[in-house]
Amino acid sequence: MNDLQGREIDYLRISLIDRCNLRCVYCMPEEGIEMIPHDEILTFGEIVRICRVMASMGLKKIKLTGGEPLIRKDVTALVRRLKAIEGIEKVTITTNAVLLADMMEDLSDAGVDAINISLDTMDKDLYARITRRDAFDKVMEGIEAALKHPEINLKINCVPMGLPEQDLIDVAELARKHKIHVRYIEMMPIGLGKQFHFVNEQEILEQLEEKYGKAEIYKGKLGNGPSHYYSFEGFEGKIGFISAISHKFCSQCNRVRLTSQGFLKTCLQYNTGIDLKMPLRKGALDEELKALITEAVNGKPISHQFLEHEIGNENNLGMSQIGG
Ligand code: SAM
Ligand code: SF4
Repeated sequence: MNDLQGREIDYLRISLIDRCNLRCVYCMPEEGIEMIPHDEILTFGEIVRICRVMASMGLKKIKLTGGEPLIRKDVTALVRRLKAIEGIEKVTITTNAVLLADMMEDLSDAGVDAINISLDTMDKDLYARITRRDAFDKVMEGIEAALKHPEINLKINCVPMGLPEQDLIDVAELARKHKIHVRYIEMMPIGLGKQFHFVNEQEILEQLEEKYGKAEIYKGKLGNGPSHYYSFEGFEGKIGFISAISHKFCSQCNRVRLTSQGFLKTCLQYNTGIDLKMPLRKGALDEELKALITEAVNGKPISHQFLEHEIGNENNLGMSQIGG
């Protein structure tokens, strides 16, 4: 399915649940989070239906995210069902990995293709400050369990927060020692993220080169999206950057997002999109759903204007509701 700019939209990120077992300071407040009633959230049957319809329109890749996707009951069953849809080539997960160790075998059996683990620091105390929870050891267990499955592509997502005590190079050590790619993701001015400044990738690259020598641009493709990667000598994995603000990649945007409440969201910055839950629950036929999805994709904004601070129809969801 192509949008009006000719961009091929073949990637859907699904937020399975708004809730999370962590409270990262740039993503969720400690308290005062509105609990969405269960019946407002799409059932697995509804998610599978939307994905089946979208697969018939050209959807190929699905990412399960949240909130924390692994706290949604029976998520492995959903992975299995999505993998069985004709046309779907890859089903992947983005998780904080707190619950991963115990679920890794089941996820592997269900056929998950890749797992992205969010980890902003290797310092246990700082981790507890950033996430407001003491879960660092659990995350390490999750990474260890995941590394036992070389068939599953593993990445670490690290969001530099501009804190002097956040040692970004320490996180890169994971890619030196293991077959795991470490990506630095620019902080985006969404929700609580507005309170932080992003760190420019050039700054991080310079720190990395100082320690590990010259970086080589890696020309291969390693995932669904807009990261670009470097190789460092002696590293098992690559180092990547997702720099949505400083290196805008909207012209190659291939994605739309589905919130846990069934809104098909076509741009991170804007509220543009369409509700699919109500039509689904009123018994819409596949052709009617297709028409709604086409309408939403046709309204996909040309680009974000985060730096221009454009006013109007701005996103009013937090990152835990959008799913990153
Ligand atoms: N809970 C899961 C996790 O943390 O991986 C999935 C959802 S989380 C919202 C997805 C990703 O968004 C995480 O890697 C997180 O660090 C990132 N994120 C959250 N707020 C952000 C912001 N303002 N700018 C950039 N990335 C952000
Ligand atoms: Fe939870 Fe992920 Fe947001 Fe952290 S970034 S609070 S783990 S949803």
